[in-house]
Amino acid sequence: REVLLRIDNLVKYFPIRAGVFRRIVAWVKAVDGVSFDVYKGETVGLVGESGCGKTTVGMTLLRLYEPTSGRIIVEGEDTTHYFLPTWKAKNYVRKTYIERFKEKGFVPKDDIDKKYFDIFTKKGENGLLEYLTGDLEDKRLAFRREIQIVFQDPYSSLNPRMRIKNILAEGPLAHKMITKKQAIDTVGKALQEVGIHPTHMYRFPHEFSGGQRQRIGIARALLMNPKLIIADEAVAALDVSIRSQVINLMMDLQKEHDLTYLFISHDLSLIKYISSRVVVMYLGKVVETAPKKDLFDEPLHPYTKALMSAIPVPNPEFRKQRIILQGDVPSPVNPPSGCPFHPRCPVAKPTCSKEKPELREVKPEHFVACHFPGSL
Ligand code: SF4
Repeated sequence: REVLLRIDNLVKYFPIRAGVFRRIVAWVKAVDGVSFDVYKGETVGLVGESGCGKTTVGMTLLRLYEPTSGRIIVEGEDTTHYFLPTWKAKNYVRKTYIERFKEKGFVPKDDIDKKYFDIFTKKGENGLLEYLTGDLEDKRLAFRREIQIVFQDPYSSLNPRMRIKNILAEGPLAHKMITKKQAIDTVGKALQEVGIHPTHMYRFPHEFSGGQRQRIGIARALLMNPKLIIADEAVAALDVSIRSQVINLMMDLQKEHDLTYLFISHDLSLIKYISSRVVVMYLGKVVETAPKKDLFDEPLHPYTKALMSAIPVPNPEFRKQRIILQGDVPSPVNPPSGCPFHPRCPVAKPTCSKEKPELREVKPEHFVACHFPGSL
């Protein structure tokens, strides 16, 4: 399988400022060392409760937030520095690759290292710098086309002063994918694909229902021919009856256009329906990741198990098995030592508060960050 997106040790901290001089007094560790892969053509569900950092991961991937550290690799190219000023981008390449490559006995950590080390040996330091930081403007434009988002709120994600035609044509025109003459045709086809009559393109967003607006949001993403669509709670604001229609539409479009989705949601039933693999986050960290079937059949992290037990089921007998977690999610400003879940974990042992569990593969493709996986 081909990896489309690799997130490698992604970190995003937000500063808290106080006082007259607005000095930084603390950091909110919203995303703290997240790593996972997204393969071409699959749907990865990113789940966790509110405040676990899943939306920050999405926003950082889109580069609406700049990552504090870590790497974002798209189709085998490091894109982390694309949105930095050129001098900062060069510093990033020097620090991340060149300085390491110059070390005695350097051993490549992964295939990206290998690829860039090859260029470094053949073309030297300047050759690698040129490869990674040349034509940054073009690289940014391509990146903006290739990764699209469908936002949560269909009411605020469309400009109320613009007609649908202009909202949808704005992106392709800006990227010179179509001419003005082609706009009506292209927008009409995109609307048809999402189940809206093309003549409605002259209407304003307030003339549509929530479900229709979300369809328009999907059409806007589709028009850019994206490789990856990030759907951030894309159906959370819709009525339950409309949700399934929008989800089924997204699944049909995935087959037709060979799309890859990163589906961010707190709704496990939805994730179970739509995803092929699931990544579970807690307090800015990935605690478990596995193919959907493995994760739902046999969750190994106590937090995932507790989440699963909260999925409503029609059989009242199942209520007996619910795992109620004690306490609240700790503050991401001062996360607990060792395992971040230890203050709430029903099976925590003394070592859990001292040693941080690393994400390790306990079964094929099933990774868990727990010292005692499967003990709950
Ligand atoms: Fe619970 Fe310890 Fe596993 Fe953390 S490492 S989830 S505290 S058992």
